[in-house]
Amino acid sequence: MRHTKVKDLLNSTTTLAEVNTKGWVRTFRNNQFIALNDGSTINNIQCVVDFENTPDETLKKITTGAAISVTGSLVESKGAGQKYEIKVSELEILGDSDAEKFPMQPKKHSLEFLRENAHLRVRTNAFGAIMRVRSVLSFAVHSYFQQKGFVYVNTPIITGADAEGAGEMFQVTSLPLDNLPKNEDGNIDYKKDFFGKHTNLTVSGQLEGETFAMALGQIYTFGPTFRAENSNTSRHLAEFWMIEPEVAFNDLNDNMDLAEDFIRYVIKYALDHCADDLKFLESRLLEEEKSKPQAERSEMTLLEKLNFVLENNFKRISYTEAIDILRNSTPNKKKKFQYSIDEWGADLQSEHERYLVEKHFKCPVILFDYPAKIKAFYMRLNEDGKTVRAMDILFPGIGEIVGGSQREERFEVLVEKMKALGISEEELWWYLDTRRFGSAVHSGFGLGFERLVLFVTGMTNIRDVIPFPRTPMNAEF
Ligand code: ATP
Ligand code: MG
Ligand code: MG
Ligand code: MG
Repeated sequence: MRHTKVKDLLNSTTTLAEVNTKGWVRTFRNNQFIALNDGSTINNIQCVVDFENTPDETLKKITTGAAISVTGSLVESKGAGQKYEIKVSELEILGDSDAEKFPMQPKKHSLEFLRENAHLRVRTNAFGAIMRVRSVLSFAVHSYFQQKGFVYVNTPIITGADAEGAGEMFQVTSLPLDNLPKNEDGNIDYKKDFFGKHTNLTVSGQLEGETFAMALGQIYTFGPTFRAENSNTSRHLAEFWMIEPEVAFNDLNDNMDLAEDFIRYVIKYALDHCADDLKFLESRLLEEEKSKPQAERSEMTLLEKLNFVLENNFKRISYTEAIDILRNSTPNKKKKFQYSIDEWGADLQSEHERYLVEKHFKCPVILFDYPAKIKAFYMRLNEDGKTVRAMDILFPGIGEIVGGSQREERFEVLVEKMKALGISEEELWWYLDTRRFGSAVHSGFGLGFERLVLFVTGMTNIRDVIPFPRTPMNAEF
């Protein structure tokens, strides 16, 4: 008999004489009630075991974590808080689980402990929910762009290009570590480690993406991105997923409109398709909030926050206006910002970004027209000669979730800027071809997928929204 998913059983419109389902035991109470979960939904189905007719040998093996198959009838449930339960006539242990040793017992585990057990934490309610929401969000990303006629482009993961020039790259080598090419002075020559050429893991697919946008009109990438972030923050990973649309004939305003529309679409999609999981995550957060002092508690629940984003426009202000606000603000009664922000031209730190979003405007903020000096070389220089058409989208609890810009379409200006930064024309000859042959205004942005998942799930550490977080502390499996 073909097994039916727990989700479908719980959503059944009638009772059923005979069903089979397979899953893992979450809890087993009074030698009779199994809460069974198969990953299809946050909800467990209650299975009522006929313990008098079940051999002791089998009963003994019904422990948290065991894989089982149950056959029986789907009947109306009186006590379980759910419409249906399974009255079990046949129970088979598919894979037992040593009750003493199984780490995911049904109790509260610290997030730290769960991170160390990334291969098993997905068996908890919270991580099951997070991973389903993540999956639905990635589908929503494709759905949004495909509906709008964007072409999905897979930009290279191994590349010679360093889009940001930020020096956060992992180098790639094809050679045995003890046989890397050496310089005359005996040091390893990293310039030749990929079959005689220098390469690194991509930090962004943007530059390659631009070349495709200048032929296909509107494209997006959605792939893994790598940055040697040797710091332990709650919003940086060494391996993360980035979504990067790039659109020809779009300026900075079009770019901001696209980003806002896109973010609303995917959040709405998650609300429509992950209602049970989000409700669970919301109640989990409410539980957590209870242990905090009143003043630190969030003013909105998770679902209220998500709906707020759907219903309110993001506040758009220039970098210069933001600096004016920050200069005249004190984040709280006693303290100033840890990094003072008195100088025009300074880069904003996460404390400033979060102040603008959480305290000042109390809504997502788009900052635009940043000083050219603190942004990458490819951004369109404004007529003032000192700011560029860049934008960052800042979200509550996180800070930056999007970085984007209108690109410098003028060949001479671009080359001039590259020169000033020591980037040679030869190095990026292929990129400059986009400006040599049919150049036009174009713009795009990069959204860190995990930062989006953080916001939607209400989690606070980026390591908890990716299956296997890569950080300086954690790369074992
Ligand atoms: P940050 O200021 O937070 O370090 P960034 O300005 O270096 O981010 P960008 O180069 O603008 O990042 O990349 C675009 C987006 O990718 C960011 O807005 C962010 O959402 C995401 N992102 C960047 N670095 C990381 C990282 N190490 N881990 C997860 N997401 C990241
Ligand atoms: Mg960074
Ligand atoms: Mg930044
Ligand atoms: Mg950025």
